[in-house]
Amino acid sequence: MLVGVVKESFPGERRVALVPDIVPLMQKRGYEVAIQAGAGTEAGYLDSAYEAKGAKVLPSRDAVFEQAAIMAHVRFGGANPEHAADDLARYREGQCVVGAADPLSHPERIAELAPKGVNTFGLELIPRTTRAQAMDILSSMATVAGYRAVLWAAERLPKFFPMFMTAAGTVAPAKVFVVGAGVAGLQAIATAKRLGAVVSAYDVRPAVKEEVESLGGKFVEFELETAEGEGGYAKGMDEAFYAKQREMMIKVVAESDVVITTAAVPGRKAPTLVTKEMVDGMAPGSVIVDLAAERCGNVELTKPDVVVEHHGVTILGPCNVPSTLPFHASQMYSRNVFNFLVNMLSKPKDRRDRDHVPTFDLEQEDDILEGTWMTKGGDVVHPALLEKLGAATGGQA
Ligand code: NAD
Repeated sequence: MLVGVVKESFPGERRVALVPDIVPLMQKRGYEVAIQAGAGTEAGYLDSAYEAKGAKVLPSRDAVFEQAAIMAHVRFGGANPEHAADDLARYREGQCVVGAADPLSHPERIAELAPKGVNTFGLELIPRTTRAQAMDILSSMATVAGYRAVLWAAERLPKFFPMFMTAAGTVAPAKVFVVGAGVAGLQAIATAKRLGAVVSAYDVRPAVKEEVESLGGKFVEFELETAEGEGGYAKGMDEAFYAKQREMMIKVVAESDVVITTAAVPGRKAPTLVTKEMVDGMAPGSVIVDLAAERCGNVELTKPDVVVEHHGVTILGPCNVPSTLPFHASQMYSRNVFNFLVNMLSKPKDRRDRDHVPTFDLEQEDDILEGTWMTKGGDVVHPALLEKLGAATGGQA
């Protein structure tokens, strides 16, 4: 099975779907890799490195699409709204396509792929189970984002992060407040702690209190009902809840040098948790990094990918954050893709069967395959997508 990787066409995307070091591991499992010349260059992976690890380097995008049985993308479908359609004519019937596709935000982009007869797999749909953890691109990319957000804040803040006791006086440590302690938030807490800040955090899921504390952060308790939804995610709440939450956060936001917001509710726009008035209450020089900028933002003043200055407070709303650390983001992403492709191989009926020779098997019963499979045999097959498309067309999908 030849797995093809082309240069990402989403504007500003620097990651690559597979890195050279993964090629020998793929070969051991029966997969060969073909890469478009230059596809990994922006992430720091040269063609020569791919060749040295046994990948085929092909001169053009067309050549990769023509030869590959499986296309591995960082972004396709809805995750590349501007340019995904450029590849439509290149897909072949029966080809598998794997990558981030943002299917629930842009189901129509996936519906466009169905008539091509391709088997598409959206990696954001990977179930959040222990078995699927090694394939979970949302977690690996959120780790990158949480880390990066803190570095940006530290760079912009006109203060030190750590406490210093010097002959020139004592410097108090920076106060960092993280809103939303999921994967990105926990990494932001860990990174800010490593830099020496005093870190506090809040999440609507009380279960994360222990995790925040284990990283050395202080969990801020508010008198709010909890909002634990299905699968460990937050549940969407009504506006009255968010109004109460904003009210309770006024003081801690005003006292913080840095606020990092990561709050998200699956399938909904991110809740507004920091208003303009709350920013007015912050000291000049303070920095906010809104990691929810791509989902409408947690901060009222956020403008995606624009640096907003408001009364001396800097508000960053960066999009596609993992792409700003492309070397390791690609390495983690590739590992997720590799594990996903390995899961497509047949498993022995009996675990003790040492003679089993794994073969590529899309017919097997597997919750990860089923949970991510978006189009098959010319149709959209994923229930959540069908529901979205049905709602958009009044039940005609
Ligand atoms: P996410 O990106 O959907 O949301 C980020 C965080 O924002 C969440 O912790 C959420 O509770 C929080 N949030 C939502 N509304 C909020 C509000 N109003 N105020 C404050 N915080 C708010 O979440 P995520 O990082 O993807 O993680 C969600 C859960 O999934 C976690 O429990 C995580 O441990 C779990 N998870 C499991 C697996 C796995 O088992 N394979 C993998 C990754 C994550």
